[in-house]
Amino acid sequence: MIRELKTRTVIVGTGPGGATIAKELAGRGEDVIIVEKGRDHQWPIGRTAAYVTMYDIKRSADGVIVRRGITTGGSTMLYSGNSYDPPAFMKEELGLDLADEVAETKEELSIHPVPEFFFKDYVGTLRLVEAADALGYHMQPQERFIDPKLCDPACDRCLFGCAVGAKWTSRSYLKDAVASGAKLITRCDIKEVLVGEGAVEGVLAKTPSGPMRIHADRVILAAGAIGTPVILKRSGVTDAGSHFFTDPMSVMVGVMKDGPGTFHEITYTFADLSDVGEFVIGNVGAVNALAAQIIKRRYGILLRSPQVKRMVGMFVKLCDEPTGSIDIKGKLHKKLSPADEERMARGVAKAKAIMAKAGVIPETISVAKGIGGHPGGTAAVGRVIGNDLQTEVKNLYVCDNSIMPYSGGIPPVLTLIALAKKTARTILA
Ligand SMILES: Cc1cc2nc3c(=O)[nH]c(=O)nc-3n(C[C@H](O)[C@H](O)[C@H](O)COP(=O)(O)OP(=O)(O)OC[C@H]3O[C@@H](n4cnc5c(N)ncnc54)[C@H](O)[C@@H]3O)c2cc1C
Repeated sequence: MIRELKTRTVIVGTGPGGATIAKELAGRGEDVIIVEKGRDHQWPIGRTAAYVTMYDIKRSADGVIVRRGITTGGSTMLYSGNSYDPPAFMKEELGLDLADEVAETKEELSIHPVPEFFFKDYVGTLRLVEAADALGYHMQPQERFIDPKLCDPACDRCLFGCAVGAKWTSRSYLKDAVASGAKLITRCDIKEVLVGEGAVEGVLAKTPSGPMRIHADRVILAAGAIGTPVILKRSGVTDAGSHFFTDPMSVMVGVMKDGPGTFHEITYTFADLSDVGEFVIGNVGAVNALAAQIIKRRYGILLRSPQVKRMVGMFVKLCDEPTGSIDIKGKLHKKLSPADEERMARGVAKAKAIMAKAGVIPETISVAKGIGGHPGGTAAVGRVIGNDLQTEVKNLYVCDNSIMPYSGGIPPVLTLIALAKKTARTILA
């Protein structure tokens, strides 16, 4: 038997797009049901086991890996918590001026550059920063969604979920939405949007207790750039799924000739932003850098694991071309284009030069290439949706990273929060 529910608005997904819009709509008295495919994991937040419970890792046939979170809070449960202002094209090309919402979010979540105690005693990281300076580059402290009062930077386990609650995740907005009366249904996998006469009628879901139909006047898809195009395609919006990008990284690790590396030093406190639009370079804790080698099956570096305390990590995050796709089954098709390969090679050469200047033995450097974590582009403004984020189906909206026409080359969470706030206010106006 099919279970039937009814509401005014269904929101699909609880990442920064979904949770923010849920908080905004429920906070203004709207009748909202939030559906989430993942569980509300409490264990193993902050532990290595998060890698097999909360992560979904997709590999393309051409060796690109994309990671996302399938859990309440979506990928923010696993993100580094770095904050960047929206790329200029949001306003200049898409007509989406998010300045007010960005300012409001920074104030609300107290987003600032990391304080000095995040790096002043971290010798390996500082050696990278000094080496970059000596080469004429500039690695600057980054803004983060982290409460410094709660964070121990030596923990460096943001990517497994923050066990002490120092890192903001969209679970906090989700909690606010539920406190305002929204209903949350977890382990609820949306398969299709129900459409009649060109307008939304609800959604069809698969749950552990059988199928469920939720009748609704409005549906907001925030299932991320991998989940949303699958639902759209199954619902007849067939042009979704193309133009996929993911900001793939090369994560590098090498061994210092002498002195400490970045073991127990927090990842991504510094970045060189002079090549934004092509690539961004930053520091990585040694354990995270080693983990990336394992994900990419570069097991040779493990022979050097007794030297882990002298290991230093860096990343090169590529602003890749939107040349990939997600098919109707959710399969990833993605290959770095020749231009991507050329830019990545330049970024890796720059990072290697910084590492060598800092004292890393060049022959020890291992590069794990093509690890992405910012999937986007698959239901873009101007291609699949309008700049009010509505699809061709009336009252069917998209509010996640799939709306970006191409990558800005920087992490998108602040942009998505601001976008969701703006969209909620437009919907309610
Ligand atoms: C390791 C890592 C580090 C990162 N670091 C940063 C960083 O420092 N700063 C930054 O800004 N960004 C970072 N990101 C990227 C950022 O987390 C994502 O870009 C962002 O969370 C995307 O938001 P979203 O709303 O599009 O999707 P998501 O956050 O992925 O949320 C989508 C939600 O939809 C749910 N869902 C999917 N399919 C369905 C379905 N069929 N039915 C119901 N629910 C569904 C998922 O379970 C999930 O909860 C990082 C990502 C990773 C993986």
